[in-house]
Amino acid sequence: MNRYGLIGEHLSHSFSPILHKIIFKNSHIKGEYNLHEVKNEGLKEKIGELKNLEIKGFNVTIPYKLEIMKYLDEISPEAKMIDAVNTLEYREERVIGHNTDYFGFGALLTNMDIDVKNKIAVILGSGGASKSVYHYLNNNGIKEIIFVSRDPKKKKDIYSGVNIIDYTSLKNMANIDIIINATPLGMYPKMDRSPVDKDILTNCKAAVDLIYNPLETEFLKLARECGLKTSNGLYMLVAQGIKSQEIWNGVVFEDEFYHKVFKGVLEYVK
Ligand code: NAP
Repeated sequence: MNRYGLIGEHLSHSFSPILHKIIFKNSHIKGEYNLHEVKNEGLKEKIGELKNLEIKGFNVTIPYKLEIMKYLDEISPEAKMIDAVNTLEYREERVIGHNTDYFGFGALLTNMDIDVKNKIAVILGSGGASKSVYHYLNNNGIKEIIFVSRDPKKKKDIYSGVNIIDYTSLKNMANIDIIINATPLGMYPKMDRSPVDKDILTNCKAAVDLIYNPLETEFLKLARECGLKTSNGLYMLVAQGIKSQEIWNGVVFEDEFYHKVFKGVLEYVK
């Protein structure tokens, strides 16, 4: 039996076990996917412990995507570029770190039929998830990226040449092609909050929320009411999970498979 799983601090609300169960059900890949809650001080030991079991791979989530990098034997080029790891591959006694969130965000945009070439993007929040979003946009021909932070002074050196502003200055911006919520605002159980209001959303054409629980956040509801094209983060979650299985099993799935698994997960969480 191949073993897979997820390492993080608080995992009781994770959708990952159901996602991987649906992948196993719809493909030749078989195995079990378990949750491993770990305290920071036990992280290094956990990686070693897992090495001794029949483990093919693990996903990594909040708050260890950066911390875990110092315990790995190798880091893939994309994870190095993003400076975060969300997938561990156990290969011949070695542990290799990858980042499939980057791929997942790209798959989400493709699923929305959005091409970012020559567009203006606003990223709300400057934490871990925003890194994959930034690098994906930057590598795919975006014209301009503006970060919005509660405290731009603290984050002013985030990436060279990138503008970082506060929420008040965002009100002066027009013609935003895509606005991305990479903050946890609106996430279960505090679902009544949105990082921005309709006065900002009316200046945008499309809105993406990385949050997938609830499926429609307050941010997305306001965006839909303003007539924007919208997507939650569920497709990104599904795509990063399938990509991890591709790495662990040396296979490549067709787009059709991604859509099928997405439909399966959506039916389950609705
Ligand atoms: P995080 O590090 O906790 O927060 C991201 C950033 O949001 C922070 O750095 C902060 O930026 C801003 N922020 C935090 N609390 C805020 C508040 N109360 N009000 C306004 N801004 C606040 O989280 P993360 O790991 O980057 O994840 C962000 C979201 O993406 C989460 O909801 C997560 O579940 C989701 N996510 C989804 C996927 C997916 O597959 N769909 C993958 C990864 C993450 P400033 O200090 O600069 O304001």
